[in-house]
Amino acid sequence: MIKTNPPIDDSVLFKIDNSTQTTTPEKVEAPYSIEIQDHIVVKEYRANTFDGKKITMKQLINWPYIEIEFISKELKFKRTNVHAFKRYLTFSTEKITFKNTGELIEEVAVINNEIGREAYTLNVMKQYCHMYTNVLEKLQVILIILEDFVLDITEINMNSIATNTSIIFNIGGCIYARNKSVRTSDQAVSFAEFITPKMKFSLFHFKAIKDENSATPFEKLQELNNTTDVNIIRSFLPSIKYNCIYCIKSYSDKSDILKHFKQKHCMEQPVLCYKCKLQLNITALTENRWRHKCINCNSGTQSVPR
Ligand SMILES: [Zn+2]
Ligand SMILES: [Zn+2]
Repeated sequence: MIKTNPPIDDSVLFKIDNSTQTTTPEKVEAPYSIEIQDHIVVKEYRANTFDGKKITMKQLINWPYIEIEFISKELKFKRTNVHAFKRYLTFSTEKITFKNTGELIEEVAVINNEIGREAYTLNVMKQYCHMYTNVLEKLQVILIILEDFVLDITEINMNSIATNTSIIFNIGGCIYARNKSVRTSDQAVSFAEFITPKMKFSLFHFKAIKDENSATPFEKLQELNNTTDVNIIRSFLPSIKYNCIYCIKSYSDKSDILKHFKQKHCMEQPVLCYKCKLQLNITALTENRWRHKCINCNSGTQSVPR
């Protein structure tokens, strides 16, 4: 939109200073150019090349001219950045003034007159989005499992891994102990439990085809990276099972195995490091792949005793 303020006076139209014009080389990429009365062209000055790598998702969805369409089974919406750029041109040295209309809502329109409309409260929308993000957080599970998958191969320290192979290793490289002693009036009984944390890592298959000459060597994953096609995305999502190997029970939901443990199993008692005698909670150890800062064993380093 072009507005002139003050209005163009024909007598000054031809007194434009050419020194700031940048017609050579031709800036073909400039998206904005405005023609006024055939003989004046205003073009965007391209100070910087648009660098998509520096733009975060948050920034992108609010970026001028960007439109995001969200389409799911239950919810479809679109956010279109229609920021108003009002450009003014003056041929005098008078200050250009701009009047802000100050309207918060500029337009409310029915998208399709042939179908009805239904109103939902902010609360309903908040609740829905909250539940939706909770569901999506499940995808976090995949990130955490894959991260430990790589850490397992790293910890095994063999620099390669074969399919159709299982490996049992001392995860964390430490041995822990629990002591109990029971004393009656005439007898004392001592009980000790030694725990060697062990992980059985089994690699059944790995079918990704690697193109050594490509910067993005896993073609299929690259396809996933470039798509928003739900079917392609779904084809990459793993099914995850949570098994209790003590009871031989299997669950597909994390909350179900937690429920099972709550009903059938006790919380693990703290343990002592066999070497430095430090008392440690199982929650802290499991969080750190059974490592702790130990001066006497290999815990905390990458090497694992063979
Ligand atoms: Zn169980
Ligand atoms: Zn220790």
